[in-house]
Amino acid sequence: MKVFKFGGASVNSVERIVNLGHIIKFWEQEKIVIIISAMGKTTNALEKVVEAFVSDKKDEALSLFEQIKQQHLTTAKYVLVTHYLSCEKKLKDFFTEVEWLLYDKPVREYDYYYDQIVCVGELLSTTIISTYLNEIGIKNIWMDVRDIIRTDDDFRDADIDWEFTQQKVNELVIPILNECNIALTQGFIGATDENESTTLGREGSDYTAAVFANMLDAENVTIWKDVENVMNADPKQFNDAIPISELNYRETIEMAYYGAQVIHPKTIKPLQNKDIPMYVKYFIDPSLPGTVIHHNPVHNLPPIYVLKENQVMIKVNTKDFSFVGDHEVRHLYQLFEALHLKPNLTQIGAISFVCVLDYWPEKIEKLALQASEFLDVEVTKDLSLLTIRHYSKEKFESLTKDKTILLRQQTTETIQVVLK
Ligand code: ASP
Ligand code: MG
Repeated sequence: MKVFKFGGASVNSVERIVNLGHIIKFWEQEKIVIIISAMGKTTNALEKVVEAFVSDKKDEALSLFEQIKQQHLTTAKYVLVTHYLSCEKKLKDFFTEVEWLLYDKPVREYDYYYDQIVCVGELLSTTIISTYLNEIGIKNIWMDVRDIIRTDDDFRDADIDWEFTQQKVNELVIPILNECNIALTQGFIGATDENESTTLGREGSDYTAAVFANMLDAENVTIWKDVENVMNADPKQFNDAIPISELNYRETIEMAYYGAQVIHPKTIKPLQNKDIPMYVKYFIDPSLPGTVIHHNPVHNLPPIYVLKENQVMIKVNTKDFSFVGDHEVRHLYQLFEALHLKPNLTQIGAISFVCVLDYWPEKIEKLALQASEFLDVEVTKDLSLLTIRHYSKEKFESLTKDKTILLRQQTTETIQVVLK
């Protein structure tokens, strides 16, 4: 049993959906659970619908949603012939669910509406692709993952109830795989015990794939991506980035944690726990080996660079010289949690505490305001955070030579600097 995950870029056009069909055709004799994201930039487009809706701009929300509907109907029309009408009917049911909500007035919190609206992206993409595969003779069964992945109601960052979900996997997914080689479902979304939709955090489809792999004791997971390999740096930022053919769980979880756009950081734990290897492969050319991630030690890794832009540094001091670690830091972490903020780097001193975070303007403003009630607060914006694993002194110096280093943290393996 294998798990395949296709991200948004791998299903963002008619050609790519057809290409997905070719890939699956090749593996047709195997048992596969296929996890799919929303098409292309649909999630971003749905976020705009949410934004308009919660700002009481109903007409704008509806017209933005109309564009998303038309895009999906057009794609379905291009890829489907005999099965178009049955697919259209299913798509329209999902459209209605969202529109029904958009006609109401927002009375609950933003994150709740976010999940109810944004989840439709995955439901639409999988409906079209499942129908397409069946139409070209690749028999598969579509599953609503919200019947399987049970979560808490921490909307936009929901946590999975493992026990309940495992039970649903046994009850619902295993029988499907006994009946048919291919089960196809959505990444990124789940549902609460009250049947409200939830999402697992942006880019969370990788995580869904790992959860299924874990619960089904899969042989391996393949993440089909628009890159040939995992690289040691983002090629858009570093023109000397090089491919890595092999990584282990430890290295990958560190890279993802520091912000490398390799894979969702939560993906590794479910795989590591069951020792399931993961392949990252290029959907345009499946014959390429890609990158394999497993438990074995990997030697001679190149330096790995992660550069996060648009960072903000918040420095706090106690007002009366009491130790900051006694109460204030705990209080700050409560604020982080309430605002769904996760510091990328922290440093604690006697009476001061520094943290570096992604710059979310509204949240950072709230954080600074609330913290200033009990601490002196200093905010510095427009920074970048550079992390290098397996660093060399020369390369580090050449990367930072024209910059001011505001903060530096270093272990034998990893160096991190905040740069202005
Ligand atoms: N569609 C979601 C996103 O764009 C989940 C994913 O792609 O993994 O964040
Ligand atoms: Mg994606």
